[in-house]
Amino acid sequence: MLDIKITKAATLKAKPADETKLGFGKIFTDHMFLMEYTRGQGWHDARIVPYAPFILDPACVVFHYAQEIFEGMKAYRAVDGTIQLFRPDCNAKRMQDSCDRLCIPTIPVEDYIQAVKALVEVEKDWVPHTEGASLYIRPFIFATDVGLGVHASPTYTFCIIVAPSGAYYAEGINPVRIYVEDEYVRAAPGLTGFTKCGGNYAASIKAGELAEEKGFAQVLWLDGVEKKYVEEVGSMNIMFKISGKIYTAPCTGTVLPGVTRRSCIELLRDWGYEVVEEHVAIADIMKAGHDGTLEEVFGTGTAAVVSPVKELDWKDDKVFICDGKIGPLTQKLYNTMTGMQWGKIPDDKGWIVPVCKG
Ligand SMILES: *Cc1c(COP(=O)(O)O)cnc(C)c1O
Repeated sequence: MLDIKITKAATLKAKPADETKLGFGKIFTDHMFLMEYTRGQGWHDARIVPYAPFILDPACVVFHYAQEIFEGMKAYRAVDGTIQLFRPDCNAKRMQDSCDRLCIPTIPVEDYIQAVKALVEVEKDWVPHTEGASLYIRPFIFATDVGLGVHASPTYTFCIIVAPSGAYYAEGINPVRIYVEDEYVRAAPGLTGFTKCGGNYAASIKAGELAEEKGFAQVLWLDGVEKKYVEEVGSMNIMFKISGKIYTAPCTGTVLPGVTRRSCIELLRDWGYEVVEEHVAIADIMKAGHDGTLEEVFGTGTAAVVSPVKELDWKDDKVFICDGKIGPLTQKLYNTMTGMQWGKIPDDKGWIVPVCKG
């Protein structure tokens, strides 16, 4: 149990007037959560303070060697007014796995959830009221030791900031075009693919920018060894419905274990679908696309929930999926997940964690 000291901001910012123009991660609230780690002492000084810039030494480890990890989740304003979280324990455990790989000291699951809840409660008036909009939560930990020797820092800062963010599908769910990346890779066995570390993103920006220039929403990453098997898209896991079965890459170290991925798999299995967590060759996906057995393709992630894919381009080959429309199973997953998150359908899975009354 953390002893969280709360210092309220003297003046509060004006809340955004138009919740349809929030965008993603652009506006931040009045407060942030902070806690420091010092070797020998452990995590200490948990507190909520006015949102403010950091003052850091230019020789801090994080600036040079990227010893940093983050998480991403949302707080929702349910139809009955409750402010609630979706499976925060999964994010807390995943953050521990990320920390462990980056030699960052872990934070107990209960402390992580307590910190998130405390900040969300302080900022509850910032949780948007508009359907589909939410308060995006960004916890992160970075190394603060000063010095250029390559080593695990003995000191860290854990911070949580929150950003009211707009509905991902403000203009309706539009299926996207995906570029199958054939040159660059995101992860390889033994590396950090299963962690949410900033370095993974730094390494993936180039492929993303090139794909965007060519009119694609995101890249689909292939395995880093043979560039043969599908892994995931930019910041989402990906699922393929082929002849009635759902295929997705296994979480064996190179794929980020998404909370949305895991939740969709549980729902699909509840509904009687066979979900195969195996390596599937991109050549087989393209073949299924051509012979008409590739029924639906969708990404899964906290930001979009599900993102239907209408086209895959691999080398000189293209396949088009579901006539450019969202597939019925993708739509059902979207309705079920968002229904639970916004308290419109009962949570019979125990996934919703209330924070406070709005
Ligand atoms: C965060 C992330 C995901 C999705 O995880 P969720 O927990 O579902 O939001 C997928 N892939 C990558 C690379 C990610 O960083």
